[in-house]
Formats: sequence, structure tokens, C-alpha cells
Amino acid sequence: MEYFFCDTGAELPETYRYLAKLEAVLGKPIARLNAERNFAHYFEVFRGTLPSPQMRWCTSLLKIKPLEEWIGEEDAVSYVAIRADESNRKGYVSTKPNIKTRFPFVEDDIDHAGVVRILEDAGINLPEYYKWRTRSGCYFCFFQRKAEWVGLADNHPELFEKAVAIEQKTLKDAGLDGDASFAASGMKGRQYTWSDGETLTELLGRRDEIMRRHAESMERAKKKRKNLPLMEVLSDALDDDDETTPCTVCHL
Ligand code: SF4
Repeated sequence: MEYFFCDTGAELPETYRYLAKLEAVLGKPIARLNAERNFAHYFEVFRGTLPSPQMRWCTSLLKIKPLEEWIGEEDAVSYVAIRADESNRKGYVSTKPNIKTRFPFVEDDIDHAGVVRILEDAGINLPEYYKWRTRSGCYFCFFQRKAEWVGLADNHPELFEKAVAIEQKTLKDAGLDGDASFAASGMKGRQYTWSDGETLTELLGRRDEIMRRHAESMERAKKKRKNLPLMEVLSDALDDDDETTPCTVCHL
């Protein structure tokens, strides 16, 4: 059994810390697979177009390509950790005949509570980012929910600012001079902004409204399913403003 992590170079600090914990428990190294070129390079290649759920060049170039190159032509089984209660999610399914895919949690009927139990029994618990975000992935990941963007601004302001800078470059390249110009242009489309329908600075300007709605969702989630651990309530509440379900290639 070999362990790997496709590292885009833009992962959260909490993710890197969690990988170190996992390595200690496994007693084996987790290979870090870096693409030959980084996000900045491909951002230029795609002429400043942001990746989006519709145009997900980041996953193919920064996650899947390095993985397939690492495996090469040898026969391999890729174990994908989709849980039994999320079997509608997509995981990495190889297009290469030498890589077979298995879904052990689905096969063994291990659900969310089962995974948490395994992590607790192993003494590593959940990653720290669960306090404000339920998924790993790049700090600028466009699958982030609005409340999670606010969480990024609060927990990693410097990373939030970097995401703002990337977005502002996209707007500038599209001939738009900042947020007001974007709002006035009537231009829609995820290729211009990380989050749907607004820039990150506009989103942060709505912080109070977003967090109020998030708190309401948390209340609803708590009432819907009583005695849930906070982490599951958070997950349910965030799902309320989820637009697309990401695949497990990117998210732990
Ligand atoms: S985590 Fe998000 S931004 Fe990063 S490669 Fe995956 S889909 Fe793209």
C-alpha cells in the first residue's frame, strides 16, 4: 500500500499539518505529488481564466495528471475514500486500463459516523480546518461555500488576499476596473469570480448577512437531526449554500 497526496502548492496549512499527523500514525510516508508546473503557470496558459465547476482545468492538470504520471504503466488499484452515505459523489475513476478503482467505505458500508470513529480510534481526529471549512483543497477553491470564504478571511487573511489578487487580475484582464465595474458590466459567469455572482471583496462586504444566514442554517440542521456532533451540523448547514458537489480527487 502506498499513500500519496496531490499537492497543488496552494493547500491550506491545516492540510499539511494533518498529512504529517497521518504519516505518524501510518508509520509510512505520504508521497507528495507536485505537478511540473504550478497554478500560476496554468493560469497564464488559460489566459487568466479562473478554473470553475464548468472549466475545471486545475483538477486535471494539478491533481490527476501528476497522479497518473506517478503510477505510470504499472498495474495499480486506487482506493477512493467516498463514504457509504455519499455514494452519489464522484471520485477519481481512471481512464487508464492499468488503474482499477475501488471504494472501500462504500463496499464496507462505512458512513460518516464510521469514518469519524476510525479517525478517533487512530487518535488523529478531524483536521483543524473543520472548525470553519469541511473540505481540504486549495485555499482559493471555487467549490468553497460563501461562509467558508468568510472563514478563510478570518483564519488566513493573507491567503484570502492572495485569492482576491488572482480574481482582480482576471477582472483587469477582462477589461474591468475592479468590483464596481464588474457589477455594472452585467457580466456573469464563473470565469471572472471565484464565488458565484460576486467578487470576493463584495462577498466579504456582505459578511454579516452571510454569517447570519449560515447561523440560521446551523440552527435548522441542528433541529432536523438532533444529537449531531457540531462538525456534522456544520457540514449540513454548509450544504445549504452548496451549488456543486466536488469530487474526492481534491478533497479529503
Ligand atoms: S481543490 Fe478546488 S481549486 Fe484546487 S485543484 Fe481541486 S477543484 Fe481545483
